[in-house]
Formats: sequence, structure tokens, C-alpha cells
Amino acid sequence: MSVLAELLLAYYDDNARDLPWRIGPKSSPNKKINPYHVWLSEIMLQQTTVNAVIPYFEEFTARWPDFKALAVAADAKIMAAWAGLGYYARARNLIKCARIVSHDYDGTLPQDEDELRKLPGIGDYTAAAIASFAFGKRALVMDANIERVITRLFEISTPLPKAKIEIKAALDDIVPQERAGDFAQAMMDLGASLCSVKNPKCDQCPIYSLCTTGQLGTAAFYPVKAIKKAKPMRSGMAWWIEYDDKVLLVKRDEKSMLGGMMALPDDGWNARRDGDGALIIALKDMQIRKIMQHDALVQHSFTHFSLKLKLTSIELIQDNILDEQMKEKAIWWPIKDIDTAGLPTLFAKAVKIKTDENEKGIK
Ligand code: SF4
Repeated sequence: MSVLAELLLAYYDDNARDLPWRIGPKSSPNKKINPYHVWLSEIMLQQTTVNAVIPYFEEFTARWPDFKALAVAADAKIMAAWAGLGYYARARNLIKCARIVSHDYDGTLPQDEDELRKLPGIGDYTAAAIASFAFGKRALVMDANIERVITRLFEISTPLPKAKIEIKAALDDIVPQERAGDFAQAMMDLGASLCSVKNPKCDQCPIYSLCTTGQLGTAAFYPVKAIKKAKPMRSGMAWWIEYDDKVLLVKRDEKSMLGGMMALPDDGWNARRDGDGALIIALKDMQIRKIMQHDALVQHSFTHFSLKLKLTSIELIQDNILDEQMKEKAIWWPIKDIDTAGLPTLFAKAVKIKTDENEKGIK
């Protein structure tokens, strides 16, 4: 084993983060690695921080302790439990993947990286991470923390994302045959602590003597990033339609953004265009008691665009506004239970604007 691997593994043995899905060097010998936990945590951790994931992971594993339990759960319950974690395509793939693993693999994840990559929601990184962490395979696990450590260690100055090819080659040179999973997790932990984005603490680092930029004092300039284009700004409208202490929610089209989630009705905005100002659902015989446009805008940032929504509140005189077809897509939801509707963050922000204004007596 190389000196680098020995130093990193010794660091891991003393400093591994205690995470609910991980069996670390200080875990009880009776605790065994659970591939379902590794898979679930890795899907949740895509684009999301450890601290944000932990409560969701704990709730999911308490309600659905294995692939078979998750596979038979209702889509709506899973989507509602996922609400607030963002990137909802992950939740839809999570459901598909659990059903395939349950049905085609009898509830046990395949161990091979290529086989894992065929499952919904599992790309190169996640396949490598599962193979490595759950099954101890030698795999090239590359997340943002590892990329940062490697570019600093070897002074790779090609901007990301182009640098990924060099990073992968450098990683392939240093991943040991033994304890490959611990090695990857040691690099991740180093990147999440001492080798931080700003102000890396090179003087405390276990691999300082081997690190080029650490020794040169230039680590904070790595990784070099390509200049990002500004995100486009989209705009649209959302409606709070209320009658008798209930609010009208719609189930978003499966193929749209936030597909399958409950939401306030809106005007059809998406990543490529603004909303057209007209309600996406057809309502009949709307008799309005009160209508108001809220001053506060709902502002939200997605991966590829930002969105500003104007919120309009409407109070109706009667609730007979849904024809038979619309009753399949929309539901009157008790306002006091709105927290249980599983609204994605964007619409939860709209609800907050509405409830804050109610509290201020603007209603
Ligand atoms: S010496 Fe500094 S830059 Fe190099 S790996 Fe350690 S913390 Fe990161």
C-alpha cells in the first residue's frame, strides 16, 4: 500500500465522520453495512448536503426499512416524504429503482458497477460509490470533495469540468486494492473538513508532505473552475384558491418539472419559458368573494434557471369549480394540514408568503 493510502486510512481510522448510513472504524462490530442504506443515502446526497439529508434518511429508513418495503409504498407517500429535499426526479427514480431491485433482484442490490449503472437514478458516481462503500469493491469514486483534494494534491490546473479526465487518471493511480471504500470515504471526509473550499487547513493535514499545492500555499486556488454562464430568470404566476378553510392543490403532470408532486395551480412556466399568465387547469363557475395580488414574490433557484412567481389569492363563494376530469388532478386540501401535503420548496415558499400575510392581518 502506498504511503499516501496509509496516511489517509490512518486519518480515517481516527477521524471518520459518524454518519447514520456508514459503518466506520469506530462502529460496533455487530453493525453490518446495509447496501439499502448506502444506496438510499447516495441518492439523497446527490446535490444535497449531509446535514440536509440526515433527517430524511432517518424518516425513510424508519418507514421503509428495505427495498421491498419501499417498492410497495404508494408513490404519493414517498413523494410527500421527499418534499423539501429538492431535485424531485431523484424521488421518481428512487421509486422505480426500488421496484426493479425488489422485483428483478429479489430485494438485493447487484454488486457490479456496470449492473448498478443500469438502474434508474444511478450514474457513474453513484454506481462507484455503492460498489465501493456497500461491497468493498475497488472503484473510482469522484465527488466534489474528492475532486478538490485530487486537484490540490497533484496541482491539476485544467478547469473543471474538463479536468475530470485527469482527476480520474490520478485517482486510479492512488486507490489501493484493500480498503478501497474506506480510502474514498477518507478523501471525502478530508475534503469536507481540512481540505475545505476556502481556507484549507494544510498545516493540520495528514497528507501535507505529499501535497503539491499545500506545500506551495496555493491550495485555495484549486480546483480551477470554468466561468459559469448566468442562469436565465423565468417568471410566472401561482394561485392560492381558497374556500371554507381549504385550498385547491393540483397534482403536477408526471412529465413536467416537479412531476407527480402536489402544488398550487400555476401558469405553466418551465425552464425554457415564462408562464403565460393563465391558470394551467380549467375551473368552471368561479364565483369570487375576494381577490388580491401579494406584493412579495416567490423566488427560487433551480439548477439551470431561477424563477420569480407572483402569487394571487382568491377566496371563492362556492367550491363547485372542478369538473369530473379536473377532480382527478386537483383536490381541496385543509389549510390547517398544508404542512402534510408534501409541497416542493417552491410552493412551500408561496404558502409561507400567504400565511405570513394572514398573520399580519392583510387577509
Ligand atoms: S495539504 Fe492542504 S490542500 Fe493538500 S490535501 Fe491537505 S488540506 Fe488539502
